[in-house]
Amino acid sequence: MEDCVFCKIARKEIPATIMYEDEFVLAFSDIHPVAPGHTLLIPKEHYQWFYEVPAETASPWFRAAQKLALKLKEEHSSEYVELKIEGIDIPHAHIHLIPRKN
Ligand SMILES: [Zn+2]
Repeated sequence: MEDCVFCKIARKEIPATIMYEDEFVLAFSDIHPVAPGHTLLIPKEHYQWFYEVPAETASPWFRAAQKLALKLKEEHSSEYVELKIEGIDIPHAHIHLIPRKN
């Protein structure tokens, strides 16, 4: 989508701190982190809602979320990693990965 901020990040038209990238997905640091390590993970193609993402992208998207969560958990010595899927604030489906401590 032309004016979507996350599509622009995926096309490298807007700089971001890239945490992970493959053919289907891109992960980058949230510019307003609610906790250290707060990361956003998006499908590179534009879909507003997670249930619109086709299986061939949804599968690597969630596999990447699991891998990133384990990496963040270790790097930030967190108890667990919270996962939220949104499509509202930026209308491009994105997973928030937030390392948490009790
Ligand atoms: Zn988009």
